Amino acid sequence: DRSLADFDPEIAAAVERELLRQQTTLEMIASENFAPRAVMQAQGSVLTNKYAEGYPGRRYYGGCEHVDVVEQLAIDRIKALFGAEAANVQPHSGAQANAAAMFALLDPGDTILGLDLAHGGHLTHGMRINFSGKLYKVVPYQVSADDFRIDMTEVERLALEHRPKLIVAGWSAYPRQLDFAEFRRIADLVGAYLMVDMAHFAGLVAVGLHPSPVPYADVVTTTTHKTLGGPRGGVILSTAELAKKINSAVFPGQQGGPLEHVIAAKAVAFKMAASAEFRDRQERTLEGAQLIARRLLDPDVTDAGISVLTGGTDVHLVLVDLRDSALDGQQAEDRLHAIGITVNRNAVPFDPRPPMVSSGLRIGTPALATRGFDGAAFEEVADIIATALAGSGEADQLAQLRTRVETLASKFPLYPPQEG
Ligand code: PLP
Repeated sequence: DRSLADFDPEIAAAVERELLRQQTTLEMIASENFAPRAVMQAQGSVLTNKYAEGYPGRRYYGGCEHVDVVEQLAIDRIKALFGAEAANVQPHSGAQANAAAMFALLDPGDTILGLDLAHGGHLTHGMRINFSGKLYKVVPYQVSADDFRIDMTEVERLALEHRPKLIVAGWSAYPRQLDFAEFRRIADLVGAYLMVDMAHFAGLVAVGLHPSPVPYADVVTTTTHKTLGGPRGGVILSTAELAKKINSAVFPGQQGGPLEHVIAAKAVAFKMAASAEFRDRQERTLEGAQLIARRLLDPDVTDAGISVLTGGTDVHLVLVDLRDSALDGQQAEDRLHAIGITVNRNAVPFDPRPPMVSSGLRIGTPALATRGFDGAAFEEVADIIATALAGSGEADQLAQLRTRVETLASKFPLYPPQEG
């Protein structure tokens, strides 16, 4: 029984280099986070060996007595965390959760209303070559060209015109809160189901820093690895009434054996999400994003044609608007990468540049907040980003900024070696 380093030094070395990259750079991809050691221990456990098709107490395999405990704890914890009537913790990912939820509620050919991918929606909300766009008739709604916010009058108009069977609320790139009560009213008006995909902002919801969609939606899906800070995976919350339909849509509808090692890791993350430490982390996440937005709206930055969509943020991310900047999204992403800050370029709604280049950046704070960044550290990050983007990109300045990034990274150690 050989260790990874002994048996497969190539993979071990790549893992080691990835650890070093995470430790020495600043991770600001809005959908990423750092899973705590306890979560990774659960995920790296012997539960990976177990087949457990079915649900706790109703399995198609023997020997499930211990994984039943694990899965039931995960279910009970997430129901308590969000006040949901029912939970399915088996989806392998956020995309799988959405596929199963739609599979439960819709027939092929039914109409869905979802936020346009180019305006911040997710692939699974109806993108043309995604399963959602292939199986269902998609009516996309967009943000308003005036303020870049979702226009609920437009959502209502489209709902009345197209009579969707499902309305999807949720986003991958949007800096404001959604009006769940209004989505519910519109869904009721046309007899549609309401599904909220809170993948991005679930961590904020868990601590009450973002309104909860659970009281309003028939189904709420989420990933567990973004603001929630757990292992990569998905979850579906629903009303008690829809629970059976959802369960059979996940298994046997979409998946085979559940990943019980990941479900164990989800359970650990849900326990953590109920802690005071997690609340503090979400507060710093939000504070950090707001500090960055404010710094990017300073005149010396806006003079360089750089701005922030919607003029700020209510969540864990900032959408940088480069439409009036000489720097495009690709160049901005590359410049931050050169100084050790990892972000992703992102098309802004009505983007004049092609998607591969784009005119935006999506900058998120969850991973740094998990690392322990506080207001002062986020002020420093904000200044580094603003200076980099508004500057001319000359090597001297970038080298100085890189040093400031390294200093910050070493002040907040990530995954330090443990005794014993
Ligand atoms: N839903 C939203 C809103 C997302 O942003 C994402 C991921 O980016 C997903 C679903 C899909 O999650 P996964 O990558 O785990 O399939």
